[in-house]
Amino acid sequence: MNKEIPELYGSMIFSDKVMRKKLPKDMYRALRKTIENGTHLELDVANSVAVAMKEWAVENGATHYTHWFQPMTGFTAEKHDSFISPSGDGEVIMDFSGKELVKGEPDASSFPSGGLRATFEARGYTAWDPTSPAFIKDGTLYIPTAFCSYSGEALDKKTPLLRSMEALNDEAVKMLKLLGNDTVTRVSTTIGPEQEYFLVDKEQYNKRKDLIFCGRTLFGAPAPKGQEMEDHYFGSLKPRVSAYMHDLDVELWKLGIPAKTKHNEVAPAQHELAPVFDTANVAVDHNQLTMEIMKNVAEKHGLVCLLHEKPFEGINGSGKHNNWSLITNDGVNLLNPGRTPAQNIQFLVFLMAVIKAVDDYADLMRISAASAGNDHRLGGNEAPPAIVSVFLGDELTAVLESIENDTYFGKQEKVQLDIGAHVLPHFVKDNTDRNRTSPFAFTGNKFEFRMLGSSASVATPNIVLNTAVAEALAQFYQELEGTKPEDMEKAVHELIKRAIRKHKKIIFNGNGYSDEWIKEAKERGLYNLISTPDCLPQFIADKNVALFTKHHIFTKDEILSRYEILLENYTKTVMIEARTMTEMLTKDFLPALNAYAGETAGHAASKKAFMPKLSTSSEEALIESLTEAYETITRGIKQLSASVAEAAGTEDALKAARLCHADILVKMEALRLAANEAEELIPDSLLPYPTYDQLLFSL
Ligand code: ADP
Ligand code: MG
Repeated sequence: MNKEIPELYGSMIFSDKVMRKKLPKDMYRALRKTIENGTHLELDVANSVAVAMKEWAVENGATHYTHWFQPMTGFTAEKHDSFISPSGDGEVIMDFSGKELVKGEPDASSFPSGGLRATFEARGYTAWDPTSPAFIKDGTLYIPTAFCSYSGEALDKKTPLLRSMEALNDEAVKMLKLLGNDTVTRVSTTIGPEQEYFLVDKEQYNKRKDLIFCGRTLFGAPAPKGQEMEDHYFGSLKPRVSAYMHDLDVELWKLGIPAKTKHNEVAPAQHELAPVFDTANVAVDHNQLTMEIMKNVAEKHGLVCLLHEKPFEGINGSGKHNNWSLITNDGVNLLNPGRTPAQNIQFLVFLMAVIKAVDDYADLMRISAASAGNDHRLGGNEAPPAIVSVFLGDELTAVLESIENDTYFGKQEKVQLDIGAHVLPHFVKDNTDRNRTSPFAFTGNKFEFRMLGSSASVATPNIVLNTAVAEALAQFYQELEGTKPEDMEKAVHELIKRAIRKHKKIIFNGNGYSDEWIKEAKERGLYNLISTPDCLPQFIADKNVALFTKHHIFTKDEILSRYEILLENYTKTVMIEARTMTEMLTKDFLPALNAYAGETAGHAASKKAFMPKLSTSSEEALIESLTEAYETITRGIKQLSASVAEAAGTEDALKAARLCHADILVKMEALRLAANEAEELIPDSLLPYPTYDQLLFSL
């Protein structure tokens, strides 16, 4: 197998190599131009590509094609059409046209649109994104597409991502030119998303409605062993897990997804996969595919892959780390500290732009990680707090301080004209300590946004980050515009000085998990938006609407619709959980509890009958505890149901979401505790579900 991997790699994508082989030269060149510069694609080129794509797909066993898109459900969507076309004589030919390649018209009316469709056009269409390669999966040719309404409103996550990449490209190239860099014509965002997940046995999974309907356990007494021994992290892989990971890698490699790292994570049954980074657009598609393939491969191994942010209480949940940087068309990473003064100026401007962006739009960054699932993680001392801050490390912080105070970094001398323009020593990469408690950490040549939940689409934080950085660069540009080249160094120095004074409040190199930080962040005036309903209203705040509309990422209507969808999503998720919990407790757990009380009573009675002098006090105590638990849980269910009914009857989406957070989830937590306590009393053989012990330690 091993020697075949280079051959296997990317064998299921319509790659550059295939294009070159299959397309006439002029058509190939026209397509490359579209891919590289985003230029319009003529219909004759599209036709030519369609023919080549179909030929390649059919050769590789495909019978169908689908426009593949990312509606606001957070999942991907597909509708398959076969290539067959009756040729009139009772026979068929395999046919695929340029028109079918570039545009599709799925019935869009059942996808969430947050009211957009009512205001605008009812139909939606999908448009081919030639910058992300088409691929074959399960006998179907998948064509990555953007999904829009007929009047042009984005109904998906790809469209705004592409728009934000364009906005950032525009501002970054403008800035580089101003700084005297004439070689760069394009700047792209790069992303490397690290993906955490859990694996559980499928048979056990199938016995738990909470896992099936909610992706997380709603109760379950902790196993005697959790993650306290720290023996799972980087531990040796169990054979079943190892076989799974191997198959997963192979499936991903076939699709040209560069899966690179795999290891056990902190919690039992938790693992991680990281690919080599790629341009944002491709990396986002790849991450969506990775999540899907993780689940599919698990099925084949009798496993289930859980991507929920918090499948189990009491042990770590799963996140997704969004590693982010900027790369020029000539291959320079703009967040790599340079070796020459000119490179340093460039580096410092872009570094400062990111710091400013995160400070000005910390609320949007928080929103980009907000979901009902991720609320269980953030601030739980296993993931960053809900407060967004930037970690730079001591040395880079000192560099910026030296600029702020006009002192040479390292020498502490007064300087006037210099940007600390001694070449930044190449310390940064090796020395940035691994502060795992920071939500947004500089890690040597990129930033790592660590708030994101494991199931989230990586598109969202990158839409925010790209746009916010584009805005910061635009503002810097205004400040520097008109500066003579010989004065640029001084001007940049002054710019950074002003910017760092204004934005240093967002920089925090300490322990993000500590209570002191929460206090200090408040004093610094940083946002601490604890829950999803706390943070979502910031999405429609004036400054944020202004940001997105200025850079043509979202129209105001698109923002409002997304806001509605996010609120509804949150409420629906919590309501499903509440109903699942009610059902599991009522139909399975309480009967088990009752049965055990009955069994115990029967046992005590026969004991007495057998030998009257024997004491039955421990049975009596047990029955009392079981009965108490029964009553507490029954009462709790009643209260929960009342709250669910209230939320269901609440028209206002924000109010409903707040009810979910402040009332329903609180009642569910109380029920969880009661059920966990009761579970400890009941023998495993009488429990209707597999326990935490079984779920976490049976692989
Ligand atoms: P760690 O767990 O220490 O954070 P990993 O190696 O697991 O490190 O993940 C680092 C991720 O960052 C990888 O996906 C890697 O490809 C990605 N990465 C590295 N350089 C860049 C870059 N310039 N832009 C975006 N992502 C990057
Ligand atoms: Mg990481």
